[in-house]
Parts: sequence; structure tokens; C-alpha cells
Amino acid sequence: MQFPTKFDVIVVGGGHAGTEAALAAARMGRKTLLLSHNIETLGQMSCNPAIGGIGKGHLVKEIDALGGAMAAATDEGGIQFRTLNSSKGPAVRATRAQADRMLYKQAIRRRLENQPNLWLFQQAVDDFTLLGDKITGVVTQLGLRFEAPAVVLTAGTFLAGLVHVGLTSYQAGRAGDPPAVSLAHRLRELKLPVGRLKTGTPPRIDGRSLDYSVMTEQPGDDPAPVFSYLGSVQQHPRQVSCWITSTNARTHDIIRGGLDRSPLYSGVIEGVGPRYCPSIEDKIMRFADKDSHQIFVEPEGLSTHEIYPNGISTSLPFDVQYDLVRSMRGFENAHITRPGYAIEYDYFDPRGLKRSLETKAIQGLFFAGQINGTTGYEEAAAQGLLAGINAALSAAGKEAWSPSRDQAYLGVMVDDLITRGVSEPYRMFTSRAEYRLLLREDNADLRLTEIGRQLGVVDDNRWSSFERKREAVTQEKERLKSTWVNPKIIDAAAAERVLGQAIEREYSLFDLLRRPQVDYRSLMSLPGAGVGVDDPQVAEQVEIQAKYQGYIERQQDEIERHHHYEALRLLPDMDYNKVHGLSIEVKQKLAQFRPETLGQAARVSGVTPAAISLLLVYLKRMQ
Ligand code: FAD
Repeated sequence: MQFPTKFDVIVVGGGHAGTEAALAAARMGRKTLLLSHNIETLGQMSCNPAIGGIGKGHLVKEIDALGGAMAAATDEGGIQFRTLNSSKGPAVRATRAQADRMLYKQAIRRRLENQPNLWLFQQAVDDFTLLGDKITGVVTQLGLRFEAPAVVLTAGTFLAGLVHVGLTSYQAGRAGDPPAVSLAHRLRELKLPVGRLKTGTPPRIDGRSLDYSVMTEQPGDDPAPVFSYLGSVQQHPRQVSCWITSTNARTHDIIRGGLDRSPLYSGVIEGVGPRYCPSIEDKIMRFADKDSHQIFVEPEGLSTHEIYPNGISTSLPFDVQYDLVRSMRGFENAHITRPGYAIEYDYFDPRGLKRSLETKAIQGLFFAGQINGTTGYEEAAAQGLLAGINAALSAAGKEAWSPSRDQAYLGVMVDDLITRGVSEPYRMFTSRAEYRLLLREDNADLRLTEIGRQLGVVDDNRWSSFERKREAVTQEKERLKSTWVNPKIIDAAAAERVLGQAIEREYSLFDLLRRPQVDYRSLMSLPGAGVGVDDPQVAEQVEIQAKYQGYIERQQDEIERHHHYEALRLLPDMDYNKVHGLSIEVKQKLAQFRPETLGQAARVSGVTPAAISLLLVYLKRMQ
């Protein structure tokens, strides 16, 4: 048979992690196979039709900076774009888009189908093949064998997935999709550190049965922000509004009345759910004093009437779902098209992973996405990209790459996962990053595109566009620093209009731009300012670098001070019993998790600063 069976990289699962992993490995020139249950569901959004938000938007920009697909697919599929926190500092500003499910999926599929070096094949993977503790390939449901020295597993919520609606439960990967049961058994046999988590989704509604006249309209931003560094607003399809309604005392009574048949509150569900995306029954119980919760009524797409009521994720019995939905303002005649449900699934303790997302137990096997204990498309896609890069590097016998905490939110997430593990589904927030001022949405390309180019995931088009932008930013900053204006050039009226006050001496334009009330565009309208740049990305970058220069430099100094110790390597076979003064608990924890660097060791829970000092003394003595 001529059908190809030997690959450099095999990716199992075509969700958000799997598609980025497969695209990245193929971009790096590796012969890559993407195996997934169903080609029709490649890039499918299992839950809310939205990409981005605070912390998550930062990850999407980083994926884009490394040549990934998520931002570009969102530009093609986004039907409402907003910049969140637009009145706050640039570190916490974030892009969020409502996506048309179908358009998003099509945009991802088109990229997959047109990616050189990438083969797509619809099959469930039931087993792995191993040689000792090395992965050699996979076996599918039909018994087909595929070989590769590197395999990326991105099975999402599918491993031993169990759907709950009220006290009824059934096996599924998500509603309408089969679970991965054989593979889950196999992974348990391999003694990987497995646990159970849960997540949930709301019932979907036919929008024609809603009364929008009593809801509050929430339009997108005008002008709309763009997600990809290479994107443009012209790519966006027709834009639509979201709407806001709320739960009320009656809704809450209905929910309380159904709790005896709730799988969450009757002990049927064992897995822990996402704290920041709780079910409506969780919210009613946890915030008992609140008599109303906001519900965002989000369109599922341009070619469907279905809407996604964001805020009423639930696993209550269907009759309770029906009553609670119809108790909300504007929803009195709502027709439910799909019931809400919760799903429990297997995940693996991410402390069993290296920074590259390769499992410590099985060489060549990488894990990415929901199976590492995270929640969210963006978290999954970012891990997928990293795992794809490292699978490609590993297949070529090259050293792994992973960004540090001061380089990317991706670095923060991976470091959090592999050093601290998870006790509930992990989602990204800006507050998780200690160097937030450096890790902004606007500079993800400046932080990562050059590295991506060296790794081979950034193509010529992105690279030349990036180089042009970087050069333009440098030149414009230089021009502003060397262009001087004085009271003779800027009359009092112009100064008052742009600067809010007259200037009394000579200033460079760069110094004036550092003033809080001055923005780049109005600065360019000053007499003597010359011709500024047109590209809004360049203008934004120049402005941010001018305004925050002092803070940025301070944070960079801090990073440099920490860097030396952070990166000190700990040998994989290090004998912690030989480190004088460490408590038994710390020795056990370090021996169990085997951190790769001193910085990681410091973040293992229970490892104290005093223990790190002892380790440092020991390492210095050994040098
Ligand atoms: P998935 O998107 O789940 O993709 C997994 C892919 O792997 C699928 O294509 C599947 O067919 C394939 N696959 C699995 N096993 C095999 C196999 N053995 N062989 C071949 N193919 C296989 N996120 C939030 O941020 N907030 C929420 O509120 C939220 N609620 C959710 C509610 C539900 C009910 C579900 C199901 C998910 C929810 N999510 C939520 C999570 C979000 O969908 C995931 O975080 C994200 O999709 C994870 O991406 P992934 O690539 O890891 O996995």
C-alpha cells in the first residue's frame, strides 16, 4: 500500500491545540500527520463563540507573532471586535472577538488543507506504540499503524469524557462527538499522572424566539480592532451586536428548586470545574446575596439564528433549564435548540511535563491543551503551537525551546503548569505575569517573531512585514528624539491645543510624547513636527515606548538581576539528599518534580526561599 505511514511528527486531535501543533511542525518542514476523529470538526469551538479577552488576547497575539493561525482565523471569522480595558494602561488592554463558528472553522480548515508537509486523516487513535520508554507511533481505530519519533496528544475533553445533564449521564467527547475511551485506558496503563476535571456549557437558543427590545444592545468598537499583526479590518465579515439581559429572583428560585437533581450538588460529578467560568447553579450558591447576574446574548454566527447565552452554563435537568431560561427578561418565549451540559474528562498532572511539553515519562510524547489541565481555546492553541515546535525540533534531534516568564504569557502559563500543577482548570489572566508591562498585546511580535523566524515557524511574508515595522519604529523614535521644538516654533494656541499648556523652553518631540495627555497623532499636528508615520501599529508602538520608557527600563533591570539565578540548571539526576539543610518535605518535592532550573524550583509549592538559598550554596560549591 502506498498510503504514507511514516512521519516526523504525528498530532492526535484537531481542536485548537492540535491544529496549531500540526501547522507549526509542518511550517518547520517536518512531515506531519494530523489525525482527528472527524475532519468536519477541525478547529471547532466546543463552547462560547469568542476568541480573546484579558490575558487570552495576549496569548492569541503571541500565537500570531509565532506564525500561528488563531488570530488570522479570527480576523476572517470575527463578527464583533472590541478592545477591553481600552481606558487603562497598554499592559492590560486586550482584544476580544465574537466569532462566527462556521467561518472560524473554515478559516482554520483552509489553512490546514493548504499547508505544505501536512497530511490530514480522519481516524480515532486508540493506542500508542512504544520502544522501551520512547514513543514510536500510534494505532488507529481501524488498526492502521503510523510511525513517528514525536507524537503530540491534544485530546481536549475527549479522554473518558462523560456528559451530565441532571442525573443522566452518557459517554461523549462533547455533545454530538464520540469519547476517546480506548486511548484513555491505554494512558492509564502507562501510569501517567491522571485526574478528572469538568467544564460546562449553556443551552443554546433560537434567536428568533427572543425579545431584543427589552435587552441592552452592546455593539462592537468602531473602528474595530484587528487581531493579527498581518490582518486588516477589510477582512472582517459583517459586524453584529451582542445583547445583555440578566437573571432575576425567580430564575434563582427555579435553580435552587432543581439542585436536588443537579449532578454538581448531588455528588455525581467528581471533577473540579473552572472557577472563573462557573455554572449558573454555582454562581447562585457561591454568591447567595446577589439577586441578579448579567447574561450576554451572543450570536453564534451570520448564517444561523442560534445564540449563545453567556453566563448560564448549567448541568441542571432539562426541565429546570427550560424554566430558568424562560424566566429571564426577553427570554419568556425562548426555544432551546441544544441543552446545556457538563462534561468530566481525564487530564494529566502537568508537573509530569518538561518545559517543552514533552512528557517526562515517555520520550517523544508531547501533551498540549485541555489535557494539561487548562481551559480555553487560546490556552490550548498556545500550548499546541509550543508542543508542535518542540515535536518538530525533537524529531530533528535539536534542542527544545520554551519562552521564559519575562518573554511571553506562553512562558508564564507553561511555567505555572509544570511547576505548580493545577487543582482546577487553569485559565490565563494578566495578573499571572510578574512582568506585565513588558508582556503586552502590542509588542508580542517584537518579543517573539525573530525567535519564531529562527525556529522556522515564521514565513517570509510575516518576516518582511515585521522587519519593516521594527525598522519604522526605530527610525521614528530616532526622528522624534532628534526633532526639537521651542516656543518660537509652537505658538501658545497650538501648545494649548496639543499639550494643554504653553512650552517655556526647547523640547524634543520624544520628550513631549512622554507627557500623559499627549498622543502621537495630535503631536504630529504641531508646527515643526514634520510628517509622522501612517501605519497605526508603528505609531502605537512609538507612543507606548515613549510613555512607558521609565517603567519598562526598570522592569528590564529587574529581569536581568533575576536572570542569572532563574536560569541556573539543575541536573535531572540531582541527589537532593546531598543538599545540606533541606527539609524532608522539600527534598521529596524536588525529587518528585525534578525542576529543570533554580527558578522553577523556587515556584514548586512548598519550596521556600530559604530552601532556594541552600540549593544555591550547594550549586556554587559544586561548580
Ligand atoms: P478540543 O478543542 O476539545 O479538541 C480535541 C480534538 O481532539 C477534537 O477534535 C477531537 O475529535 C480530537 N480527539 C480526541 N481524542 C482523539 C483520539 N483518540 N483520536 C483522534 N482524535 C481525537 N473553555 C473556556 O474557556 N470556557 C468555558 O466555559 C468552556 N466551556 C466548555 C464547555 C464544554 C462542554 C466543553 C466541551 C469545553 C469547554 N471549554 C471552555 C473548553 C474549550 O472548549 C477547550 O479548552 C478547548 O477546546 C481545548 O482545546 P483542545 O485543542 O485542547 O481540545
